[in-house]
Amino acid sequence: MAMSMDPRRFALVAAEWFDGEQRHADGPTTFTVVDGRLDSISRGDRAAELANQGWPVQRTPFLMPGLVDAHVHLFLDGAPTDMALRSAHLKQAVPDLTEAARRSARQALACGVTGVRDAGDRHGINNRVREEARGPASGMARVRSGGSGIKRAKRYGAFMATDVEDEASIRNSVRELALSNDEIKLILTGIIDFDAGAVTDEPQFDLAAASVVVEAAHAADRKVFAHCSGAEGLAIAAAAGVDSIEHGFFMSREILAQMRDRQLAWTPTFCPVHFQWAEPQAVGWKAETVGKLRRILDSHAKHLRLAHEMGVPLLLGTDAGSMGVPHGRAVFDEIERFIEAGLPLQAALTAATAAPRRHFGASHPTLVAGAPFDAVSLPASPFDEHSALRRPQRVWSRGVVSA
Ligand SMILES: [Zn+2]
Repeated sequence: MAMSMDPRRFALVAAEWFDGEQRHADGPTTFTVVDGRLDSISRGDRAAELANQGWPVQRTPFLMPGLVDAHVHLFLDGAPTDMALRSAHLKQAVPDLTEAARRSARQALACGVTGVRDAGDRHGINNRVREEARGPASGMARVRSGGSGIKRAKRYGAFMATDVEDEASIRNSVRELALSNDEIKLILTGIIDFDAGAVTDEPQFDLAAASVVVEAAHAADRKVFAHCSGAEGLAIAAAAGVDSIEHGFFMSREILAQMRDRQLAWTPTFCPVHFQWAEPQAVGWKAETVGKLRRILDSHAKHLRLAHEMGVPLLLGTDAGSMGVPHGRAVFDEIERFIEAGLPLQAALTAATAAPRRHFGASHPTLVAGAPFDAVSLPASPFDEHSALRRPQRVWSRGVVSA
């Protein structure tokens, strides 16, 4: 008998699986993978039959799509929490920062994160790593890149964005950025002043200017993802119709209702703020500020639950690269924040698998026949044991085992 040992062709039998939206816990399922794509899914254990036909067959307790981190900065290293180390990192030459970005993408993939959306770096290192990560054997998570974002001169975001001025300059910049970037990153507001417990500065773009960004991006067939926190900025983001709101601290029910109506997505990125709350000594926050951080996180969790109930599309993103937010592993922490907020695990996993793929326009957002085989197997069902997510057995990128 001719035994085919073609590595591009194999079968898997999973005791239970998740397709990106639904859990399937009604008995074993057999998957075949051919040339990096899921070829067939059939109920029952077909291991013996397929092995007889020469298919290499593996078994796993649990199979799910590869995770997606919808908000990272690959060129930043989230592990160091010392301010001096972090600013020294940013001052490195581009080749060193590029190497750091490759490390981040490898670290993500090892955790089962087969895709990331990079939310901006001013050197465009994310675009370069995106090209390098295209091959299935790159050992890196695939990259959807925001390239360099856009911001106002002398305002927050210089590490990840370039300056724009009047309407003509916005249109030109967006047109130019759309040539190399998968999405347009708009730095719509500043960041939270943790001591004040609020976003204290004015939005960088008013409604007219933000609308120009969205219109120009859509004309170039690009989505806009907006760094935005604080009531004023959120009102502008929703009215302008940015495709996804990143961070979105100080969210409100009214804004969520607009987002639901227009199906604008939300990436709440708990991780960086949670780190500041959990390890206040890293920055030296006083007790009063720690209390404010807790209230900000509690309000964020309350609005995430509301968003889920209302039907706002949710994307799970960690802001990996921020202080205390390591690439890869942070996805599990962010999933925990979603669970703490009261979301079912299924909703958290959807936000980390099918929802971002759908938002990014993937041809097959879920694990169905024909889908690229980006998947993770686990030693147990995370529906029984959440921590199983942190212990991937195997990670496949386009059908190639990478971990
Ligand atoms: Zn970010």
